[in-house]
Amino acid sequence: MRKKKIVPCALMLIFLGHVVFAKIQKPEEVLGFKVGTDKKVADMHQILDYFKKLDRASKRIMVKEVGKTTMGNPFIVAIITSPENHKNLEKYRRYQQLLADPRKISDKEAEEIISDGKAVVMINCSLHASEIGASQMSMELAYDLATGNDKKTKEILDKVILLLVPMHNPDGIQMVVDWYKKNLGTKYEGGRMPWLYHKYVGHDNNRDWYMFTQIESRLTIKIHNAWHPQIILDMHQMGSRGARIFVPPYVDPYEPNVDPILRQEAGMMGTFIASELTAEGKAGVIHSNRYDAWTPARAYHHYHGGIRILTEVASVKLATPITLKFEELANRVKKPSVKMPMPWKGGKWTLRDIVDYDYSAAQAVLINAARLRRNWLQNFYKIHKKAVTRTEPPFAFLITADQRDCSTAVKMMNVLQMGGVEIHQAKESFWAEGHQYPEGTYIVYIAQPYGGFAKALLEHQDYPDIREYPGAPLKTPYDVVAHTLPLLMGVDVTQVEKPFKVKSAFLSKIAKPEGKIEIANNAFGYVWGHETNDDIVALNRLVNKGYSVFWSSEEFEAREKNYPPGTMIVQHKKGLIGDLQSIVKDLYVHFEGLMVKPEIKAYELKPVRLGLYKSWMASMDEGWTRWVLEQYEFPYESVFNKDIRRGNLNQDFDVIIFPDIKENIIINGIPEGNVPPEYAGGIGEVGRKNIKEFTQNGGTLITLNSASEFPMNQFYLNIENRVRNMDRKSFFVPGSILKVLNDTNHPIAYGYERDGAIFFRRSPVFALREGKGVVRYPVQNPLLSGWVNGEKYLHNNSALVDVPFGEGKIILIGFPVQYRGQAHATFKILFNSIYYGTAILGKL
Ligand SMILES: [Zn+2]
Repeated sequence: MRKKKIVPCALMLIFLGHVVFAKIQKPEEVLGFKVGTDKKVADMHQILDYFKKLDRASKRIMVKEVGKTTMGNPFIVAIITSPENHKNLEKYRRYQQLLADPRKISDKEAEEIISDGKAVVMINCSLHASEIGASQMSMELAYDLATGNDKKTKEILDKVILLLVPMHNPDGIQMVVDWYKKNLGTKYEGGRMPWLYHKYVGHDNNRDWYMFTQIESRLTIKIHNAWHPQIILDMHQMGSRGARIFVPPYVDPYEPNVDPILRQEAGMMGTFIASELTAEGKAGVIHSNRYDAWTPARAYHHYHGGIRILTEVASVKLATPITLKFEELANRVKKPSVKMPMPWKGGKWTLRDIVDYDYSAAQAVLINAARLRRNWLQNFYKIHKKAVTRTEPPFAFLITADQRDCSTAVKMMNVLQMGGVEIHQAKESFWAEGHQYPEGTYIVYIAQPYGGFAKALLEHQDYPDIREYPGAPLKTPYDVVAHTLPLLMGVDVTQVEKPFKVKSAFLSKIAKPEGKIEIANNAFGYVWGHETNDDIVALNRLVNKGYSVFWSSEEFEAREKNYPPGTMIVQHKKGLIGDLQSIVKDLYVHFEGLMVKPEIKAYELKPVRLGLYKSWMASMDEGWTRWVLEQYEFPYESVFNKDIRRGNLNQDFDVIIFPDIKENIIINGIPEGNVPPEYAGGIGEVGRKNIKEFTQNGGTLITLNSASEFPMNQFYLNIENRVRNMDRKSFFVPGSILKVLNDTNHPIAYGYERDGAIFFRRSPVFALREGKGVVRYPVQNPLLSGWVNGEKYLHNNSALVDVPFGEGKIILIGFPVQYRGQAHATFKILFNSIYYGTAILGKL
């Protein structure tokens, strides 16, 4: 129950001509309970409401709406500092901009700014919505900073500008609180929600810090780029049985482009938090454990002059406390060690404990920032000075303008620009390392403030060989190990080591090239390519408008040139020209009039009734698939267990996709008793039969990555997963980019070149005794970026198989084809597979 508001919503109360701010209410006065109380939790609306009140009542707090979230809710930041600093906020923001770009100031000017500036700290709460403690804590932290008049608070307010994001994922906070409240008092209290806590990406919302696919990532970057904080505190929670809180130092390896100054600072801040918490008697503080700093997907800040302080506090069941006996704790946290001198002894653990640990960590960061203000600013400047005066290779990366998929190349450059990377364009042709490059070539010089960010994303990763003892398998990395954008996005990029000279212009924005139509009178139809993702969007728009559209299945000659297999052809009918004109307005597609019908065989394409399997064991891969389908305008419907159990699937669907979900989960789902009954179980034996029948009757089943095991085992396909159950010592590819060979005469690989690159993670490797291997591994080491061992198990085996099954097809795509919305280079493999499902081969 929420308490009645004590003070009316008025902005200020006016007494005798003086402006008096309304009384600042404590969180509990507004919420009706103390933050962190067992089984009580504030939802998004309550948190937004509380910050609105603070904004009105305090001269120290200004709350801004940065934008709307994926589901249309306000995404806010509270700027907290002294009233004096608030008056000069723009000046301090300008200081940050200047320190971040030493090309704009002299060392002397920098010295003045460093003397006069403020340390900027950003606190990002509850990135993962179910790790809810920090969002609750944010209200107490803000209240104390708004009202405290002690020396420490004054020192913080005077020396620090705090950017407090109370909820990184407000939509998710609302979802998890609604779910929690609904099940409170039942046997499902505190249990896992059967859907993702972000509309599309769930937990992966913290794997998006270089691709910025999701709105919340972009909004956070907007704050970051405006303010360039020196310190970023990312507040998370982890499992229950380990340490009570993790703080940096991180474990090896660091991504090589992170400045060593930052690495030292992160370690220093981490151990400062650890010592403060320990001094307060908070047990179970661990550092130098488990979490590494390899992937930029979790650490935008590391490439933008700021330390990223990750905190991970032990979880409860959302707001329901847990009790852990000492014996129940993980063995590694039972004894004192250098990493954790004061272990936790077990007992009751509550949301309030999480709030307390989070609060202390936040306070420690703020007081450290205040007291070492000068050091933070000085080093921030040094990091950027090093970046802009860098002389060691590489000198630049070159991106030629004539890319196979131009609009995707532009997307890649836009992503770099969003990360502050400066891109130039050559105004003349030029030579670099013995090659001539044309005018118009894009140039990313590495000596620039965020050159390290560009380099990390454009170069190939060479993941270090770290083993626990000689002969041991590779130490398992915390996450994936490759992030080379040119490979992921299919963009041709050249790394140039030595300096070269060319007249070039800075581009503040890179616009997509325009599409065009070459209109022909009385044409049979129009042709266009199959090389780009835009080509597929054009296809979707035309097919769904009812035009007759084809893929040529063989090469043909027209207009005095050769068109390869896969060329798209739309037959003319009334209204077509208008529709093509509207397509080229926003898509980079080139339509050419075709006077006569070519005498060829072709696949006729139909609108596809597409289903996407959705398990109640919420799957991020399902979310990413949905996101990618929507971005590229594929209509689809989610298919639930009950739909599959009901059967008669051919009536509603032509193609069903199973995202990367394990066979066992597909069949058995969540065991009964763990979730409300409507979410328990999987497709079951009856569902298995129904999917088999669907395929035998002419439907197409597409399985992504590990889901391929489902039809392989359940329908007895004569295909073996060569690496099933293999230990890490024999075979290990922890999220790397591998070279593959495409069969470009097969419709699934239309539009591709023979050489390709795929992302590989927890993927099967197919040895075939039936079906057609459309994408295969070469006979040499296929590693392009990241790490691989046991590559012999890949040699000559397949990554994608087309298996005829009854009247239908099973397409096993044995890799994350839509990987985290990043693998633009392989999106089309999925798109082609969807159309191939219903395509009919015949004479054009
Ligand atoms: Zn987390």
